Amino acid sequence: MIEQGYSVDEEKRILDVLARGLSREFPNPERVGCPDSSILRSIASHKLPLSQAAPWFDHLSACSPCFQDFNKFRREAAGQRRRIQVWLAAAAVLLFAFGGLLWVRSRALPHAPDVAVLDLRDRSVARGQNPSETGQAPLEIPRTAKHLVLDLPIGSKEGAYDVGLLAETGDQILRAMGTAQLHDHITNLRVDVDLSNVRPGAYSLGVRQPGLEWTRYPIRVF
Ligand SMILES: [Zn+2]
Repeated sequence: MIEQGYSVDEEKRILDVLARGLSREFPNPERVGCPDSSILRSIASHKLPLSQAAPWFDHLSACSPCFQDFNKFRREAAGQRRRIQVWLAAAAVLLFAFGGLLWVRSRALPHAPDVAVLDLRDRSVARGQNPSETGQAPLEIPRTAKHLVLDLPIGSKEGAYDVGLLAETGDQILRAMGTAQLHDHITNLRVDVDLSNVRPGAYSLGVRQPGLEWTRYPIRVF
């Protein structure tokens, strides 16, 4: 639970009381009528509601020992508030540093968002002009992709390949070339692409060895 602090007016009233207290000496060696030090402490740290604190103001302004105690507690409370502020500031700096570190790490991860991996191993191919008849959901690539990694169908040969993005009319929108290599029984083909000028929509991804026919896979650019 967070206690409401004193308003500016309330604080001013307390300071007025203190100023009056400073004007004269009020020795009270027997501590007659003094409040418990816990009350002085909670007034000094603004934890006692003003309605409960106000009755002690007259005593505070007429009892030097209480006045000195109260001043000491005020300094302590102010010091504590400063320490908490320093801790909060240090925690904020640590949080920002940690967040920055996470951000840098995420940028350095190998599967950056500009790499699109397309698994063609279990894909039906569309040899005709109507790629939507394969019964599978189309492959998907974001326009932000800069590199494509194609897992070619089982048994695909290593070597040079053409990769094309083909419109339904058969026009080539994009063309890229790469060299497929066998890794762990999968033939990988990496090509660099720039899809930033490609309109989002349905296309065919064409893959072929130079001089052979395109093998087409339905693909959606988004
Ligand atoms: Zn007193």
